[in-house]
Amino acid sequence: MTDQMHRIALASRPTGAPTPDNFSFEAADMPTPGDGEILVKVHYMSLDPYMRGRMDDAKSYAQPVPIGGTMEGGAVGEVVASNSDAFQPGDFAFGMFGWASHAVIPANQCRKLDPAHGPITAALGVLGMPGFTGWHGLMEYGRPKEGETLVVAAATGPVGSMVGQLAKSLGLRVVGIAGGADKCQMATDTFGFDACLDHRAYDDASALRAALKEACPKGIDIYFENVGGKVLEAIIPLMNPFGRIPICGMIAWYNAGGLGANAGDEKDNLPKLWRTVLVNFLSVNGFIISNHWDRYPAFLAEVGPKVASGEIKFVEDIAEGLENAPQAFIGLLEGRNKGKQIVKVA
Ligand code: NDP
Repeated sequence: MTDQMHRIALASRPTGAPTPDNFSFEAADMPTPGDGEILVKVHYMSLDPYMRGRMDDAKSYAQPVPIGGTMEGGAVGEVVASNSDAFQPGDFAFGMFGWASHAVIPANQCRKLDPAHGPITAALGVLGMPGFTGWHGLMEYGRPKEGETLVVAAATGPVGSMVGQLAKSLGLRVVGIAGGADKCQMATDTFGFDACLDHRAYDDASALRAALKEACPKGIDIYFENVGGKVLEAIIPLMNPFGRIPICGMIAWYNAGGLGANAGDEKDNLPKLWRTVLVNFLSVNGFIISNHWDRYPAFLAEVGPKVASGEIKFVEDIAEGLENAPQAFIGLLEGRNKGKQIVKVA
């Protein structure tokens, strides 16, 4: 085995959208596992929108990555050395290995992958954190009922496509919002959504709202919030009484000052928005999936067989090479990914 590994470190904090200069590709000595630890050779790593938040030095539910620190993230890889009874060399594991070719990590912080659950990349998307997020957010806070209408944006990503397909299987009308005609076609043809609107085709929230009104003739019962921005502004007035809004993410604002800042350039619609929540008796639930891992076995038991049978579909967008992770990540934030963004490392 080589005595060097590679990693991508946070070189500087971005102002606005990240640029390649914010990252540095570095060589380092190969680490050796201590007691209870394993050494993993990373095969595939996940790129996720939350990583943008880790680049800011801002108060959040998680610590920022320090300058010079390895970019954080989930990955799957092969165990090459083990000082734990839980893993043998040759096993495949999921863990927070970071943007790196290799990682040493306590064995009890990793999950052994079961080949019966499909390709190892599935552990990063459809059967990993994002798919689990879609399932939990929809079932717990969306409380879907047959005959209702659900809208979800970032519709072809791993969260949105899980939400849409589950809601469809439960008898809801499902309307997606995605960036571009190709993604809209993917939402309807691959994932079975009833309709999908291209948010880039509408200049402002009221134009998008008019199109949504046509696509949702009975109003909207569940808005699964992934993006914020113009989409949120378009949707709020269309919510039906007793509607539910699981707040999962707000990617439209991630590059504009982070959470809590006066981020977007939207008008100050807060009083109007707040009044709609009141007079339409809306339930609005923010959630962070890392607080709910106790539900993961139930998710795997329910959704795993549906993925294995092809009932739940998934699409992966695999970039080649650790050194290309920053560009792929920048692309993800701009919506250039088609499906779950993954990087092939080994
Ligand atoms: P995706 O793979 O769908 O990638 C993000 C997508 O967001 C882009 O492809 C793009 O899709 C869309 N997007 C980017 N900018 C905008 C914008 N300004 N307006 C509308 N859409 C935009 O991501 P995931 O499925 O992994 O995640 C979806 C959301 O869920 C994110 O907000 C993420 O932070 C959140 N999340 C939250 C978790 C939690 O615990 N609460 C856990 C996991 C994810 P398009 O081109 O189609 O618009």
